[in-house]
Amino acid sequence: MDVNKIRQDFYVLANNKLAYLDNAASTLKPNSVIEALNHYYRDLGVNIHRGVYRLSYEATELYENARQKVASLLNCDFEEVIFTRGASSALNLVASSLGLKEIKENDEIITSELEHHSSMLPWQNVARIKKAKLIYIPLNVEKKITIENFKKVLSDKTKIVALNYVSNAMGYVTPIKEIIKLAHEKGAKVIVDAAQAVPHMEVDVKDLGCDFLAFSGHKMCGPTGIGVLYGKYDLLQEMDPIEFGGDMIDYVELQKSTYKDAPYKFETGTPLIASAIGLGAAIDYIRSIGYDFIVKHEFKLREYMLSKMKEIPGITIYNPTTETGIVSFNIDGVHPHDAASVFDEENVAIRAGHHCAQPLMHNLNQVATIRASIYFYNTKEDIDKLIKAIKKSIDFFKQFI
Ligand code: PMP
Repeated sequence: MDVNKIRQDFYVLANNKLAYLDNAASTLKPNSVIEALNHYYRDLGVNIHRGVYRLSYEATELYENARQKVASLLNCDFEEVIFTRGASSALNLVASSLGLKEIKENDEIITSELEHHSSMLPWQNVARIKKAKLIYIPLNVEKKITIENFKKVLSDKTKIVALNYVSNAMGYVTPIKEIIKLAHEKGAKVIVDAAQAVPHMEVDVKDLGCDFLAFSGHKMCGPTGIGVLYGKYDLLQEMDPIEFGGDMIDYVELQKSTYKDAPYKFETGTPLIASAIGLGAAIDYIRSIGYDFIVKHEFKLREYMLSKMKEIPGITIYNPTTETGIVSFNIDGVHPHDAASVFDEENVAIRAGHHCAQPLMHNLNQVATIRASIYFYNTKEDIDKLIKAIKKSIDFFKQFI
């Protein structure tokens, strides 16, 4: 794989001197995805499922093909793929439907301080409404989730385990397969937030055994406004919809109605047609690059980035044992937002902030960190630009420290 060739597929990279290192927030979109969106809007532009004309059939086929592409990516059945607005909506759907129905007073829900707010807050809401207990796995000294610490909080009262697969703030990989096995032994259901996993590594839901898994399209070369909830079919069938209206019904009467089977009962109204088609194109694109290459390339760049950062005095790296392409750090005495502004002048795009993980920031005793995150189209030159920008920030701000 020639990264310089790959970069030609991305208009932003081919026409810009930008070192784009904010991939954990959103990745750039290749031309093939933009063309898939264009094709739908330009050549079709119509609604799906109910139109009895050629354009509608074509659009329906593209939309449902995208669902099949997700199913084959995750190794699940077609009917187990629900299109949502993003990972957040997918995670909220499980909590609002299954959570509010099944959780009872004093039941226990396990999550962690390493979660993105979207993995934690839906369950905080369920716990508040149902008077259940939200239990946090103690993080180890590196701020990782370990099996040992998970066992300390798992109990007969555990009904739900809601955890990330890869932490968006620290880049750690949760030992999720073993956690799922242990949780199932107690009869608990496991919801995996895979928003930072699916874009970067092979994720096989059958192999993991998870009950639900969520991810977003825009973090894996796809459009915004599309995400996926995978759910085991039997569980989805037992769950009630949380939105009611067009397209999701079977038969409507004045006082009661019946709904379609999963996944359609969860896709109310005109669905996210273009975005789903775009996600299908993104999956094709990522598969053409291959997860083998993605994993190896990100590993190489991450090691290079860490080694270069460690040479600079005055930097604190919060996750020196990161297992993916995410590095969280601060420049001593410099507010992350100030550093980010200097980086921007150097054409380096990173994220400064709490990364939707405020409890983790409290745990780290920081208000914010700088997060650099890699994808397969990044190069050593991007990292060199970041390192140069860090040095420039240190030089500039040292007069104020
Ligand atoms: N979980 C994780 C781990 C994430 O990184 C993100 C996005 N930052 C989300 C959930 C939410 O995804 P979205 O904003 O696309 O709904």
